[in-house]
Amino acid sequence: MVNKLLDNCFTTEYSTVITDIEEEQGDYWHACKETIYFMSKGGMASDIGVINGLPIKNARIKDGKQWHLLEQKIEVGANVVMSINLHERFRKCQIHTAQHLISALLHNVYQVETISHHVSDDENVIEFNFDHFNDKMAKELMVLCNGLIRDDLEVSILYPTKAEAAKFVNEKKLNHDEIRVVRIGNIDYNLCGCMHVPSLRYIQMIYIIGFFKTTRGYKIRYACGDQLLNSIDQRYKTLDEASNILATSHLYVNTGINKIINANKELAKQLQDSKHRYILLCADQLSKREDAIIKEKFHDLDKKSLVSLAQRISIFYEHPCILFTILDDSCHLVIAAPKRFGMNCKSVFTTIANQFQLKGGGNETLAQGGGIYTKELADYINNIQLMDTL
Ligand SMILES: [Zn+2]
Repeated sequence: MVNKLLDNCFTTEYSTVITDIEEEQGDYWHACKETIYFMSKGGMASDIGVINGLPIKNARIKDGKQWHLLEQKIEVGANVVMSINLHERFRKCQIHTAQHLISALLHNVYQVETISHHVSDDENVIEFNFDHFNDKMAKELMVLCNGLIRDDLEVSILYPTKAEAAKFVNEKKLNHDEIRVVRIGNIDYNLCGCMHVPSLRYIQMIYIIGFFKTTRGYKIRYACGDQLLNSIDQRYKTLDEASNILATSHLYVNTGINKIINANKELAKQLQDSKHRYILLCADQLSKREDAIIKEKFHDLDKKSLVSLAQRISIFYEHPCILFTILDDSCHLVIAAPKRFGMNCKSVFTTIANQFQLKGGGNETLAQGGGIYTKELADYINNIQLMDTL
């Protein structure tokens, strides 16, 4: 059923009468004599609206009547005022009409068909059955769209006879009782039941964000009107924040980021060098101990450094060692010994691991693993004697 009240997107206040009420799970369906509420179709979302200040939770057509779901019951015969959120509706109409325009232009210029259209808060995507698409075509499309917006072509809603419509549309598509056509100047003549802006200037501007290839063709990303303004606003705020942090202008943000990345790489290299020097120094100091087996506990020494240190003590200084690092609530244990000591590091580790639920493994000369840190584990390791390990 065609609702001509939806032909003007700016009709957002309307007085009507409740004709029927049906209850459904604590809510009430209200049939209205007339409605200005757009019910989702053609990929366009429903309006946001109220009846006498009560939010419309859902809407449907049933038995030829237009029903609106409300939380509270209004009386049959009551005069009510329906009100629609204009901002939300206008934004949707801008995006939808922009899609008509882009689809029509690309069809006229390249004879491509629209395969799909997706709308989101930030940007929209239209898929076309293009064999190829490139930057130049995207730029030309943007210039063409905005030129026609400047020309302010009229977007008119028509109700032609089938014979009239058949001059422009394939007859197979005209199998409806009532035919509703949306025409943009002389460039587009399309069957559509959705809501549109009255002329192209209301779209304000179309920005072609980019495009990418799909299995069926190409998807073109675009934003327009209020959506585009909002998107620019958000991006400017983000860029302003980044510019302030980097103490540079918007256009030099990437230079600032690259400087940080390079400084970070340099720092990482210096840290690596420092760790290496620390390991050499630490291995030298620990190896001076006269203990048969060197045991040492560290705080926050990373696992990789701990293993390097154990290898240095075992291979370079030929001392067996059990090293242990505490990392927050967990710990990591490395056991290393030169082969000639006859100490099987793997079996020593397995004994400790079984007792303290550690995970890991290794071989005769080096074994390692970790688990939850407990004082009992630290004490146990501290009390290990070389004889225990043989
Ligand atoms: Zn439409």
